[in-house]
Amino acid sequence: MIIDPLLRPDLARLASALGSSPLTRFAPSPTGYLHLGHVVNAIYVWGIARALGGRVLLRIEDHDRIRCRPEYERALFEDLAWLGFEPDIGLDPPLRQSEAPGVYGQALDRLRESTRVYACDCSRKDIGGERYEGRCRERQLEPGHGRGIRVQLGNGDEVFDDALLGRQLQTPAEQCGDLLARDRDGHWTYQFAVTVDDFRQGVTLVIRGADLVSSTGRQILLARMLGRRNAPVFMHHPLIHDGIGEKLSKSAGDAGVRELRSAGLTASEVIGIAAARVGLLNPGESIRAIEVTRLFQN
Ligand SMILES: [Zn+2]
Repeated sequence: MIIDPLLRPDLARLASALGSSPLTRFAPSPTGYLHLGHVVNAIYVWGIARALGGRVLLRIEDHDRIRCRPEYERALFEDLAWLGFEPDIGLDPPLRQSEAPGVYGQALDRLRESTRVYACDCSRKDIGGERYEGRCRERQLEPGHGRGIRVQLGNGDEVFDDALLGRQLQTPAEQCGDLLARDRDGHWTYQFAVTVDDFRQGVTLVIRGADLVSSTGRQILLARMLGRRNAPVFMHHPLIHDGIGEKLSKSAGDAGVRELRSAGLTASEVIGIAAARVGLLNPGESIRAIEVTRLFQN
C-alpha cells in the first residue's frame, strides 16, 4: 500500500538540509512515451530545484537494454522540450547509463573489498517474492551467462527523513535480502545503477514518486557501502491515482503527452492537467513549465 505524502515540502527546511545549489535529477527510462505521471514528476523536480536555486540533471535510465528503444529516447527529448522543462545537465551530450558500463563494474569491485559479492542463478520463480533468502551465498558459482550478481547487504535499520513523508525506518536486509546488482541477462539493475549514478553524478536531492519509497533504505545503505558519506535528501511525491487508491497505469487511462498534444492541447494545459491530478492546481487551470516553482512557494 502506498501512503499519501504531503503535497508540498517545507522549503526552508529543505534548503537548510541541502546547503547551496542542490542537484536533483529527472531520470526517465526510454521504454515508452512520456505520460502524465512523468509530467507530475517534472513539476516537482523543476519546481523544487528552481525554488531552491538548484540544478536539474537529465539521466536516461536505459539499463534495461531489452525494453529501451531509440525512438522512445528521441520522443522523450522532444516532449520534454515541447513541455518547456529544460535540464541544466544531460542534454548535450545525453547522460545514458548504457554509455558508462565500466562504472558499474568498478563499483562492484569496490564493494568486494568490504562485503560478499557472488553469482546467483536463481530465477524470479525460484525466489518467489521480493526477498531473496541467500540460497547462492555459499555456493561459490562462477559468474557467467545466465547468472546474476548479488551483493550482501549489512543488517540493521536505515532511518531517513523524507521531505514529504517524514521520518522513515526501513530494514533493507529483511525487505529484499542480498541485493541483485546485475541480472541473469547481464543487465545492471535499477537499484544498483541508480545508486551508483546518484553518487558519481553528485545528486544531492532525489525527487520521485511515492511508489519508490520502499527502495530508499537499500539505496542509502548501498551508497554508504560504496563510500558515499552523505546520503542524498529524498522526497517522494504523490502519484496520480485512479480513484481506488491504485497507482494509475496506462491501461487505467493515463494519457501520453503526445496524445494530448496531438489532440490540440498546449504545453501549459498538459502541465496544468498533471498538476491538477495530484491536487497542486485546480482542474482547468494551466501553468507553464517556467512557472511551476510558484506551486511550491507560499
Ligand atoms: Zn541464488
